Formats: sequence, C-alpha cells, structure tokens
Amino acid sequence: MDPELIAPQPVAAVMRRAGAWLALVCERCGHAPRVDMPAVVERYGSEITVRDLVRRARCTRCGCREVEVCIGHDGQPSWTT
Ligand SMILES: [Zn+2]
Repeated sequence: MDPELIAPQPVAAVMRRAGAWLALVCERCGHAPRVDMPAVVERYGSEITVRDLVRRARCTRCGCREVEVCIGHDGQPSWTT
C-alpha cells in the first residue's frame, strides 16, 4: 500500500478496506492514537481525504500541529506526511 496513493483518498474509502487503520502520530511527543474513522466521516463528511484529516489534526496530548499519519493494514504500518 503506497502512502503517496493513500493521502488523496477519502477516509471513507480507507475505512471500507478490511483490516485497514489510520493513526495520527505527533512528531513532538510521539503520541499516536488510532483514528476513529467512522467518527471522522460523521463529523466532516464522506469527502474528507486522509490529507485533509492530517491538515486539520492536532495532537490531543501536547497540542502540536506537526502530525503525521500512519496507515496500516493487518499490523504492517507505512509512513506518510
Ligand atoms: Zn504531541
């Protein structure tokens, strides 16, 4: 799964893949919560992309906006910005 191909995709599309997950990783403190994808789609709508989500993201622990997304499938994460 190429991260560069994932970033422009809707969160809703990632969510429909069996076993797929997203995590937002703070570059400052390392906090890395899994994304509650159904909640994201409900809040922002089905058109929101992974890249949009990262742009909106803020670390819930330290407030830092330098957040990366980690996309994984069945425990095999790959990294993108
Ligand atoms: Zn943080």
